[in-house]
Amino acid sequence: MRVGVLALQGAFREHILDLEALGASAVAVRMPDQMEGLAGLVLPGGESTAIAKLMLTYGFYDAIRSRHEDGMAVWGTCAGAILMASRISGAPADQEPLGLMDAVVRRNAYGRQKDSFEAPLEFAHIGGPFPGVFIRAPLIESVSDWAEVLCRHDGQIVAVRERDMLATTFHPELTGDPRIHRYFLDHVIGAS
Ligand code: GLN
Repeated sequence: MRVGVLALQGAFREHILDLEALGASAVAVRMPDQMEGLAGLVLPGGESTAIAKLMLTYGFYDAIRSRHEDGMAVWGTCAGAILMASRISGAPADQEPLGLMDAVVRRNAYGRQKDSFEAPLEFAHIGGPFPGVFIRAPLIESVSDWAEVLCRHDGQIVAVRERDMLATTFHPELTGDPRIHRYFLDHVIGAS
């Protein structure tokens, strides 16, 4: 199975290594035409404003939307979760979301004290606590009725699946724990 990782900025290398360790063929996507034939695309964590600017420059917005309509699953982690939302709260007005997932995501939702932290998470379907690594993380403020909330932290939504889309506000690729990558490959890809 070929899966792409948007490789414009941020923690894309770690996702590529995790996906390959699970037997997928992972492509570092730097230009839109590299998404041809991909079963899924990971939008990594990083700085969503920087990624958004590069996406605009290289023409990724329409390309990702149309590939997704043709069946490419999408997983956004942290900054990636911000980018795939239909609305970003607390974003500069010029930050355009992809609008793939019917969700409102708030950038930098944790105050200074807690702006980066780790916490064990109960994540549905994967069995046992998952090490949550939150780095200047966003929060998912609301989701659609047809979305499945997979994980909450302190009562707030930190992971959600909507059809063939997954959003996590934390960084599974920085933990060495492959279970959410496996969940994406086995249950999100193809689930439209
Ligand atoms: N705070 C970052 C943003 O708004 C996201 C941080 C991350 O991806 N770790 O883009």
